[in-house]
Amino acid sequence: MTVAENGYLTGRTIIVTGAASGFGRLVTDIASQRGANVLAVDVDTDGLNALVAELQQTGRSVMACAADVTDPQQMHGMAGSCLEHFGAIDVLVNNAGIMPLAFWADHAAASDAWSRCIDINFKGVVNGIAAVHDQMIKQGRGQVVNISSIYGNVPVAGSAIYTATKAAVNVLSESLRIESQGRIKVTTVKPTGVIGTNLGSTIVNGDAMIGILGQNMESFRENAVKFMTPGESEGLTDPEDIRYWAISPQELAEQIIYVIDQPWGVSISDITVRASGDQYLS
Ligand code: NAD
Repeated sequence: MTVAENGYLTGRTIIVTGAASGFGRLVTDIASQRGANVLAVDVDTDGLNALVAELQQTGRSVMACAADVTDPQQMHGMAGSCLEHFGAIDVLVNNAGIMPLAFWADHAAASDAWSRCIDINFKGVVNGIAAVHDQMIKQGRGQVVNISSIYGNVPVAGSAIYTATKAAVNVLSESLRIESQGRIKVTTVKPTGVIGTNLGSTIVNGDAMIGILGQNMESFRENAVKFMTPGESEGLTDPEDIRYWAISPQELAEQIIYVIDQPWGVSISDITVRASGDQYLS
């Protein structure tokens, strides 16, 4: 099932970071299918080029841009390419991210990944905003969509660095909204845990999931088994059922599209997207 289309995507130029996988890939696909021009940005050039070639074959207005969000110069170059190719920068979706969950006791094993996490999840958003800010102000309008997480809501065990980067993203969003009211719309999207993207591959210590699940850890494990066993799922896999347990990447991506598919004067500034029956604590 897809979310109703409002029709505001046609002709809008949207930059999506982390476009080669997961939410970014789906947002690139859906937005271009609905008539937006999309500049797809990623460090995974193979994945990026394959996606863009596939979408271009069906006549979509999509361009690939290999750029690393941690590099301010590359991000400014990326914004320049977007302007040169599409003539505007209407929306930036700061989506690229990694999630190196680990306990403080894992610091030796996790330190490189944590450092990279701060560079991508936090500085990457700063670099993205800085790259598009002046153009959006010049245009007199723009929208920045920052992908945060339920992890950014409160500190939990096993997620000090990831949570801190997402809490920082929430603050970056609000500060940009306050400073640029009436010129740049700012939206923070806080997804729940979503199974089926590549994000789990960046976890350093799998046991660190305990923090976001707490007392639900045992029943989460039981439901995970049911969820993956055909005939045993008891409504857990049915989005029409209140017990729906895990939203799909597609459903999450459609909510990102929803916050963009609005008239310029309507700003959805903050949404949390969950499955009604999911078991995460924050
Ligand atoms: P994913 O791993 O499937 O996709 C992330 C993409 O970001 C990849 O294509 C990767 O190559 C790209 N990327 C990584 N570093 C980059 C860099 N330096 N420059 C440019 N691109 C880079 O993950 P996903 O689940 O689609 O996550 C997307 C965003 O959603 C992340 O910010 C993540 O923190 C957030 N999020 C995900 C979940 C979830 O459960 N999947 C929940 C809450 C929030």
